[in-house]
Amino acid sequence: MSNISRRTFNRKLTQGMAGSALLAGMPWACGMGEEAQERKLGIALVGLGSYSAGQLAPGLVNAKHCYLAGIVTGTPAKEKQWMEEYDIPKDNVYNYENFDKIANNDAIDIVYVVLPNSMHAEFCIRAAKAGKHVICEKPMAVSVLECDAIIEACNAAGVKLSVGYRMQSDPYTNEIKRLVREKTFGDVHYVSSDAAYISRGNPDQWRLNYALSGGGALMNMGVYSIQSNIYGTGTNPISVSAQEFSTIPEYFKDTDESITAQMQFPNGVVGHMFTSHNANANRLFVNFRRGWAELNPCHSYGPLAGRTSEGKEIKYPHQSQQMVQMDDFAKHIKTGSTNFAPGEMGKRDMIIVEAIYQSIKEGGKTVPLDLGNMGIVKS
Ligand code: NAD
Repeated sequence: MSNISRRTFNRKLTQGMAGSALLAGMPWACGMGEEAQERKLGIALVGLGSYSAGQLAPGLVNAKHCYLAGIVTGTPAKEKQWMEEYDIPKDNVYNYENFDKIANNDAIDIVYVVLPNSMHAEFCIRAAKAGKHVICEKPMAVSVLECDAIIEACNAAGVKLSVGYRMQSDPYTNEIKRLVREKTFGDVHYVSSDAAYISRGNPDQWRLNYALSGGGALMNMGVYSIQSNIYGTGTNPISVSAQEFSTIPEYFKDTDESITAQMQFPNGVVGHMFTSHNANANRLFVNFRRGWAELNPCHSYGPLAGRTSEGKEIKYPHQSQQMVQMDDFAKHIKTGSTNFAPGEMGKRDMIIVEAIYQSIKEGGKTVPLDLGNMGIVKS
């Protein structure tokens, strides 16, 4: 979409909202009137790096239930460029210092935190305290303790919380979930999931800096493998054991390069995962009693591709995953529909991440997990 048509598009939204001005300050709850349900919710992106610029902002242009209303940036030079490109009024532009003033801005309903991992907790908590609903990028934080603090802040403020797990709104993922749930090919026996890419650029990037990332490939891509092992079995693991591989330690000085892990699920189901910053792999394979299903590629922005042992192609029209994800969360806020990636899901994955790091530290020891149904969303 050109800059001009983007501006026209956003202006139309603003006009639509003027008619709904009386709704400002109304609680976001189920059973709202039709007009309130039709109103697009305003999202402010915090952190205008590559994911915000390349995926989230473009995804919001065509979203049905939300739009890009504001920005929060530590780089003054980006303000003018984003204001022009997305028709964002100056009043909706914040920096990291004055961010808390967003509490007084009724045009912003949702704050989406897209900063380096170690900054998620601080900004999610500040957003909740400002009375805004929160989307927190993955991984949710750098520790389970931080996940708890985010969840508590959102509960205390009475705002909704979601993790930026775009795959949970993706039709390919949902087809895998359906095959598992409906036992189309019988029970699941084995799942294998790879999420890895070669990340050998600037050695000073924050992803390779433990203080900012909280870990390497496991924190960045490994959470996708954990997720797909779980939706590929429909249950949480009951234990995990893991191994770390380092082939160029002089480059991956501070963070993990490659990790494999084995998960045990209830009823003897076995899961395997591989994640790396030094290999390209992007596949989910689910082995059922009477067949299999595969997505390859499976964790990227799409178009994805899949097939089953019956020779059937899994195929859907391509849409921005980020648009669908943000629309799903806006619908959840407006109508009480399912939150496909609640905070508990992000916390559960961080419990598994910490167990994987513990297992590696203890020479591959099996670490038991007691997760029950935590973070399992019925869809
Ligand atoms: P990026 O490096 O492109 O952008 C990071 C942003 O944070 C920049 O705007 C930078 O200016 C800002 N920042 C503020 N303080 C910083 C500091 N001390 N060091 C470095 N940057 C700082 O990163 P990104 O790829 O946009 O990732 C941001 C978040 O989004 C991460 O949590 C990442 O895991 C997540 N992400 C998710 C997906 C997904 O598919 N869901 C994809 C990419 C990134």
